Amino acid sequence: MSKIQNVRGTYDLYGEAKRKAKKVIAAGSEVVEKYGFEEIETPIFEFTEVFSRNLGDTSDIVTKEMYCFQDRGGESLTLRPEGTAGVVRSFISEGMQQNLPVKLYYAGPMFRYERPQKGRQRQFTQFGVELLGVETPQADIEVISMAYEFVEKLGLMGTVTVEINSLGDQESRDAYRTKLVAYLKEHYDELSEDSKTRLEKNPLRVLDSKEECDKKVVENAPLYKDSLNEASTAFFNQVLTGLDKLGIKYRVNNRLVRGLDYYSHTVFELVTDKLGAQGTVLAGGRYDGLVEQMGGGKVSGIGWACGVERLSMLLEADVSLPRPIALIPVTEDVNLAALEIAYRLRKAGLRVEQSYGGNMKKRLMKANKVNASHAVIVGPDELSEGKVTIKNLDSGEQKTVDLNTIEKEIN
Ligand code: ATP
Ligand code: MG
Repeated sequence: MSKIQNVRGTYDLYGEAKRKAKKVIAAGSEVVEKYGFEEIETPIFEFTEVFSRNLGDTSDIVTKEMYCFQDRGGESLTLRPEGTAGVVRSFISEGMQQNLPVKLYYAGPMFRYERPQKGRQRQFTQFGVELLGVETPQADIEVISMAYEFVEKLGLMGTVTVEINSLGDQESRDAYRTKLVAYLKEHYDELSEDSKTRLEKNPLRVLDSKEECDKKVVENAPLYKDSLNEASTAFFNQVLTGLDKLGIKYRVNNRLVRGLDYYSHTVFELVTDKLGAQGTVLAGGRYDGLVEQMGGGKVSGIGWACGVERLSMLLEADVSLPRPIALIPVTEDVNLAALEIAYRLRKAGLRVEQSYGGNMKKRLMKANKVNASHAVIVGPDELSEGKVTIKNLDSGEQKTVDLNTIEKEIN
């Protein structure tokens, strides 16, 4: 316990990985703000029921993955394993139903007690969106197109495919459930122990099992599309037609289901084959029953969330920052003057790396190390005449210029 180390499955994010994660979130924010989404920040913990009652009491998250604890007042609290339940809780408790539609996005840490492996952490970051109050397929199309534009902006369209399916409305799901139960009962002995229990409590969950024996049985299970009623089929077709119209490429995957109880109609994932078993980088769907189930009104919803670390791992090039200027005082007595120049240049929008010590050779080496484009060399004699030397670090060229023309010379 006294060892100084991080908790298993958690990581310190810094350097290149942090720059990439920031880029993912910045790209996402920029895209979804164009669609009128506003950022919301909800607490990272909620009353345990917010998750346990709404994600489904046989879901993997609720049965195995939640970090629950009792606080000093005896309340059972849980570190959020996902974003939707907290946002919907806020939508209800803040009375946002008054002004529909509501379009929100969030970014922040999520917590799941899972077996750590590449792309699977116990604390990870999600960026996600929720659109509340639109029943028509326009919402599905818009929300999926947003995900598409986001991934395109990151330059990952060649790496990632959109997969989509429909689970239909309640009537279709009930019809499907009956067929599925009949099928699973025929294969009862081949199922994992967990899935035998699921068959009793929530048979749809078997479809999402990660156990090999279950996956085999599921391969030949009945398909949702054969149980969709007319209205659900029409809804799904409208979504697909819309995506076609926008030129969004997708693959209908009849086997796609999502692991949480609250989904209906459209479900989708953006997947890659570059991350091994952890290939889903973004996932979402429609959740028309969730608001009501949580005690709000009859309000439809649809949203998605992406794994920021998984997406970051797909970014090949490091994020390039503008090259800095190195500011080098030649003697100690001009340190303060150099600081003043640095302050002024930074306020003018330039990135400036101050040089803190060492001889001129060391300082120039340091300037190269931070990839500076220019060095501004401040010497006492020149300074007394109101001048400094600017050295172009690529060409080696240098010239003496007037103190207040530095910005102009560098640009
Ligand atoms: P998986 O099938 O990989 O377990 P999931 O269905 O549990 O994913 P969601 O709840 O849909 O995942 O979360 C949305 C996204 O968040 C995932 O597609 C993934 O990119 C990311 N994600 C989920 N769990 C983790 C984790 N433990 N570590 C890192 N990223 C994760
Ligand atoms: Mg999972």
